[in-house]
Amino acid sequence: MQRICVLGSTGSIGTNCLEVIRAQPGRMSLDAVVARRSWQALGKQTQEFAPRWAVLSDEGQRNVVAADAFSTRTEVLFGADAIERVAASPEIDTVVSAIVGAAGLRGTWAAIEAGKRVCIANKETLVVAGPLVMELAQRSGATVLPVDSEHSAVFQALQSGRRADVKRIVLTASGGPFRGWKAERLRGVTPAMACHHPTWNMGQKITVDSATLMNKALEVIEAKWLFGLDVSQIEVVVHPQSIVHSFVEFVDGSVIAQLSPPDMKLPIQYALTYPERVDGLSPRMDWRSQFQLDFEPPDPENFPALRLGYEVAARGGTCGAVLNAANEVAVERFLSDSEAFDFCDIPTACRAVLEHHNFDPSPSLDELVRLDGWAREEMRTWR
Ligand code: MG
Repeated sequence: MQRICVLGSTGSIGTNCLEVIRAQPGRMSLDAVVARRSWQALGKQTQEFAPRWAVLSDEGQRNVVAADAFSTRTEVLFGADAIERVAASPEIDTVVSAIVGAAGLRGTWAAIEAGKRVCIANKETLVVAGPLVMELAQRSGATVLPVDSEHSAVFQALQSGRRADVKRIVLTASGGPFRGWKAERLRGVTPAMACHHPTWNMGQKITVDSATLMNKALEVIEAKWLFGLDVSQIEVVVHPQSIVHSFVEFVDGSVIAQLSPPDMKLPIQYALTYPERVDGLSPRMDWRSQFQLDFEPPDPENFPALRLGYEVAARGGTCGAVLNAANEVAVERFLSDSEAFDFCDIPTACRAVLEHHNFDPSPSLDELVRLDGWAREEMRTWR
């Protein structure tokens, strides 16, 4: 029985993850759930799964929650330190890291340090601290597995050849709701328009990231660290149907792809059961009706965030932490007041903050955390 802790259990990935666990009762058990503030939803999860622990990372919730919302078999804990304790507990085998943004870093770090199987759905961990995280995993013997659909696809395709024989990988991008739009038309788009994704149903922040292509930029950085590739080996192709989740091209010219309908339960389940595959809830391809798969090159002229991703991946060091933090606040600013902070300001402001920071090629974790705070403050006052 695999004992699982889900960091971010009430979010979009988290609830999908609980569906996967619910469908594998003999194989997986949910032993810890973690959320920031959503105590009602967290309470419901404990009523169903009776995990050993439930953690609310926002300390202030201590005075807000109704104790009877939680299962009597669950111990309720508060604060960020509690996340680290639970994630590193010997009674947990696997940690699913699905807390949005840089907030997920500490719990994920603790789990890797403790040598767990760590399923990374929160790409920020690798974007911010990729080299440190991979190095730590090597030392501790932790297994780091991707949940991000593109990276899961690459990981699955990599099983068909030797690592040394990989020529390049190709990450697919849906192109988001503004695919084909030019910069003039992008200026002035509203948060409601940016939050409407054509193929994936996800949280708000990542949906805006898909619209700017910043999500793909972050994924290029994530792929570089996760698979130990050179930036020149990572390509992006726009594929609006989101059926092919990525490609791996080997030195002989053979290209292996992973296909499935757009649904996160498959990559989540694969990360939990790897190297095994089990029957599950994920929707199947329907080969009886005619359908089309389209591919087109990305448009970095009108979606300049993608270029930022390549530059940051190539430069490494402190750049990932700064880009990630700057982008998080830029998206918040756009969502809360798009008249004052335009959709097109997101990549422009991110570049400005990035160019303005004190670059360090091999920072410590503390330095990354400090720079994360600095970049947020810079973005709050940008203009
Ligand atoms: Mg993705």
